[in-house]
Amino acid sequence: MAELTYPDLDTYRREVFAREDELLKSVMPGAAAQGLPRISISPESGKTLYLLAKAIEAKRILEFGSLAGYSGIWLARALPDDGRFISLEVDPKHAEVSRANLAAAGLADRTDVRVGAGAVLMQGLVDEGPFDLVFIDADKENYPVYLDFALANTRVGGLIVADNANGHGHAHEALDAGDGRRGIQEYNRRVAQHPRLISNIIPVGGWLAVSLVVETD
Ligand code: SAH
Ligand code: MG
Repeated sequence: MAELTYPDLDTYRREVFAREDELLKSVMPGAAAQGLPRISISPESGKTLYLLAKAIEAKRILEFGSLAGYSGIWLARALPDDGRFISLEVDPKHAEVSRANLAAAGLADRTDVRVGAGAVLMQGLVDEGPFDLVFIDADKENYPVYLDFALANTRVGGLIVADNANGHGHAHEALDAGDGRRGIQEYNRRVAQHPRLISNIIPVGGWLAVSLVVETD
């Protein structure tokens, strides 16, 4: 019988398929030391975003919600040299940490972290699209608003991806009117039914809702 190499299946999966290099490993501990919350995507989600961006040969990627640049590093690493990654972040301190981490990853030349509310900044981005991939991971109330922008500004064959699609474990429940997670429920309902999207959940981390943009007939 073979020796047990990994303590559990999750560790096995992470070590074999979503192993972080030293830089990625250092990003969230470093951010936490600067007072940022540890709410980045998981390594499995990062590897999934990287794979999806590579699969469609993404050259222009837009992100809502940078935090410390953890997801940004995974996404921007999928870009070719002339690719472009724009990330919208409302908190100036988060944006600063994110920029520093993207620079440490050698990605400063192709990345652009902009400070402001996503729903406001996105309006100035129409001319910088269409995007190949839009990753939504900011305030959950506004997921439907970000979806409207993504639907209008993602190329056919591109992807719209949202993190935390399981609503922090509550997407299946009746939620109070003021609960931001209702934004996720509405987002999920819309992408699942939209005639221009083929959507499914990839249940890594807090679940990624993945939508392929297609032509209508
Ligand atoms: N994508 C990151 C995690 C993002 S956490 C990663 O996985 O590494 C969510 C981020 O969205 C936080 O940094 C928060 O400040 C930011 N945010 C919250 N409301 C926002 C808004 N209205 N516009 C832009 N960013 C916002
Ligand atoms: Mg998230």
